[in-house]
Amino acid sequence: MRRYDIAVVGQGLIGSAALDALLRYGADAIGFDPLGPGAETGSSHGSSRVFRRFNFENKNYTELSDEAFSGWERLANESRQQLLIPSPVLEAGPQGSDVIRASREAVGAFGLKPPPLLNGREVNAMFPAFQLPHGWDAVVQDGGAILLAQLALTALRSRAKAVGRVVGCAITRLEDGGDHVLIQTPTETIRANRAILALGPWTAKFLPELSQILEVTRQTVGWFKPAWSDTTKLNVFPIFLLAISEDNLIYGFPDFEGRGVKAAPHNLGPVTDSDAWALPPNNDELRPVSKALADFVPGAAGPITERDICLYTNTKPADRRPDKGNEFIIDRWPNSNLIVASSCSGHGAKFAPAIGERLARLALDPTYRTEPFFRLSRYSAFPVDRDLGG
Ligand SMILES: Cc1cc2nc3c(=O)[nH]c(=O)nc-3n(C[C@H](O)[C@H](O)[C@H](O)COP(=O)(O)OP(=O)(O)OC[C@H]3O[C@@H](n4cnc5c(N)ncnc54)[C@H](O)[C@@H]3O)c2cc1C
Repeated sequence: MRRYDIAVVGQGLIGSAALDALLRYGADAIGFDPLGPGAETGSSHGSSRVFRRFNFENKNYTELSDEAFSGWERLANESRQQLLIPSPVLEAGPQGSDVIRASREAVGAFGLKPPPLLNGREVNAMFPAFQLPHGWDAVVQDGGAILLAQLALTALRSRAKAVGRVVGCAITRLEDGGDHVLIQTPTETIRANRAILALGPWTAKFLPELSQILEVTRQTVGWFKPAWSDTTKLNVFPIFLLAISEDNLIYGFPDFEGRGVKAAPHNLGPVTDSDAWALPPNNDELRPVSKALADFVPGAAGPITERDICLYTNTKPADRRPDKGNEFIIDRWPNSNLIVASSCSGHGAKFAPAIGERLARLALDPTYRTEPFFRLSRYSAFPVDRDLGG
């Protein structure tokens, strides 16, 4: 039986970042995943993700973004390719929008001067593809970028690939044996001292207790042929997020690949399961996006040329240490040799190097704990953390 110190099950952006960190620290680690870069499923698939430095979702994430940014830069230097394409991030919504307020507060909370509150008229003058209502609130954030996700996944996997530490198959069974973990693949059983589970939408299949806390949703993405192509290119068109109403958030990218403007809803789609990839995306699912572009971004509002689906894995609101939900889980699994990361909720990709680092530390350093807002103990279904006083 082959033996390793640490197994990493799932090699999407999060698991491959964890395995890469472990191997950098000289750990005896191995990863498993049936999918590789270029696959059409898995929550990390596709060419791009948004990198935002300041996150309206949670001001605590700025430090995580900065840590991740350093990680992406290191990886870009190692792989000698660009992984982040800098771009301003425009966030806009009706006057008084909570998203715009929270986005500006995330800058202030970090001790920096918040960027000016703009109105729709000013944004339309800055970015000619946009026709926002003049009274809307808006902010243009620095520190944003397009993360070249598929290149990033390939780069994150390269160290493990070079030393033959990625197994290209799905594990069929996982058994915690008290002082070790047994990992069953279709052809062998492998023994590890600890295992990191970074299974994205498949997490609850191996940890069914999490099915009460995680919800997987179907998210449809479209590419729109620009109506005014000279207004939608990189540098004249920002990464954008329109918070049209509480349940109608639309985000998109400049036409940086010549495929058109990629745009999608950021609010949660229908609840599904991890096998939902089979149902092809359709234009009806993209109707709110088409309408938003026609109403507010006419320069991008041409016909849909490509579609894709992806799955968000969202956490429900926590009860013991209350949060609003859609936060990450990065923690040890109680009374076991397992470590779990559920880093999706539609905004985990950008943080992959920082989350991978945390997972590696959880596996290597028994005294290390993640930040309280990432821990399982925030849910009353999990044991109390003594060091948090309950
Ligand atoms: C439409 C969409 C848009 C998004 N946009 C952004 C964005 O703009 N910015 C951002 O930061 N984030 C974004 N995200 C979120 C981000 O992409 C995810 O948080 C991140 O990619 C999740 O990575 P993961 O490694 O946790 O999951 P995954 O990439 O799903 O990885 C899980 C892996 O586990 C493997 N696996 C499953 N079963 C087994 C098994 N039995 N054995 C071994 N391996 C197994 C799978 O093959 C898969 O590769 C978006 C997500 C979606 C869906």
